[in-house]
Amino acid sequence: MIIAANLKTNLTRKETKSYIEELEVCASKTSQEVFVFPAITSLDSFEGSVTIGTQNAYPTQNGAYTGEIGLEQLEEFGIKTILIGHSERRHVLGETQEFIAQKFDYFKRQGFKIIYCVGEPKEIREAGHEKMLEYISTQYKGIDTEYENLIIAYEPVWAIGTGLTPTIDDIEKMHTALKAKSQAPLLYGGSVKVTNAKEVLKSKNVDGILVGSAALYVEHFCTMISYAQELESK
Ligand code: PEP
Repeated sequence: MIIAANLKTNLTRKETKSYIEELEVCASKTSQEVFVFPAITSLDSFEGSVTIGTQNAYPTQNGAYTGEIGLEQLEEFGIKTILIGHSERRHVLGETQEFIAQKFDYFKRQGFKIIYCVGEPKEIREAGHEKMLEYISTQYKGIDTEYENLIIAYEPVWAIGTGLTPTIDDIEKMHTALKAKSQAPLLYGGSVKVTNAKEVLKSKNVDGILVGSAALYVEHFCTMISYAQELESK
């Protein structure tokens, strides 16, 4: 299974280094595919079984894009994995679908593994399943759903960082619908924690989890990895 941690704007460079060292100890004992997305200033050349990705980058080799990083800065650390379309970048930082698709296309051409996030806000959820699907379909616009290095993460916006989660039935319903759009591995994200991770990981058409807040505690994240390992060896 795929178990990914989005550390967002948390942990210093020093703290991230210890986090990854500790994570390596538990992750290397399993056959799970583990990803960590640290803050950009904490990127470095880490060796081991955990894949380090970037939470963001501008679709450029280098250039005049103040405050952004490009391919050159990622290559320095051998980073070949990127998170694209996260709801905080869509809704807080104002990235449009057009720009997201441009970014996707650029990093696809560079052969990056892309974890592409989709998900509906609360008002769309309240409008029902069909509206949710319609909304999420717009987030596939300009995205190559057959890209070989693609992983999709379904992350309802209202579930991110709120402690709220859809029911398992709802997750399965959405994941089944999304699997019809793309055969890429499909993660669930949004308030996954130690207490619900096992149930989520067991769900139909769930190939892994993307974890924010609860992954900040490395021991919690390691517990979630061990759940995936347990489930796989059954
Ligand atoms: C995320 O930001 O990708 C996420 C899933 O956050 P949280 O686990 O805190 O809801």
